[in-house]
Amino acid sequence: MRLNADYHTHTIYSHGKGSIRENIEVAITKGLERVAISDHGPACYGFGVEDAASFLEIKREVDKYDRLYPEIKVLTGVEANVISLDGRLDLPRFILEELDVVLVGLHLPIKPASWQDGVGIIFNNVIIDKLGLKSTEIREKNTDALINALHNYKIDIITHPGYRINIDTRRLAREAAKTDTVLEINASHGYLSEEFVKVAATENVKFSLGSDAHKPVDVGEVDSALQVAKNSGLIIEDIVNVV
Ligand SMILES: [Zn+2]
Ligand SMILES: [Zn+2]
Repeated sequence: MRLNADYHTHTIYSHGKGSIRENIEVAITKGLERVAISDHGPACYGFGVEDAASFLEIKREVDKYDRLYPEIKVLTGVEANVISLDGRLDLPRFILEELDVVLVGLHLPIKPASWQDGVGIIFNNVIIDKLGLKSTEIREKNTDALINALHNYKIDIITHPGYRINIDTRRLAREAAKTDTVLEINASHGYLSEEFVKVAATENVKFSLGSDAHKPVDVGEVDSALQVAKNSGLIIEDIVNVV
């Protein structure tokens, strides 16, 4: 099993350390056929892109390098944020429609759509869940927010499900399988973990391995995710970006 595409890489447009061009050049040296630039949506406090329009700028740059490097397909993506309990994302639809690949993750802290969403997403996860209170209720709300997003938009990949935020993996996997959305095994954060890959796999969802590179040198580095996939008994057909 070998990685042929990395859909999860960051650049200086959000809080990565390298340029788009550097990520592409490393992806080529690692033998990838496709690489996506998928910077954080603008709702991340302190580490998102400047604003939604940054993605149009990223797209122009990606298209330029895509022509310059015919040996690899370069895609414009995003790691968007869910900013409301009813599953709204932090990018307008007309920008999402310009992108080749849409990744979505639950992140904290984010700028919520309303104060109720701030309580429902941020306060509950940062304070209440950590105190061990209302865990089941919070897990259901988090899962609902992601599932609502799956129904509101065409989402290709859910990044690091369960990382720092409690979710019902089985319920998410079931819905993701219906909407043709894949769940990521993230090489930087350890999620999905082996335990949860096994749970998700029973719902016939597909997976992708993501480096979540924040430095060019890490593009295409998914050893730990590949190990989790193998230990969980996944085969090539279960994973969208291996050959
Ligand atoms: Zn993330
Ligand atoms: Zn990321």
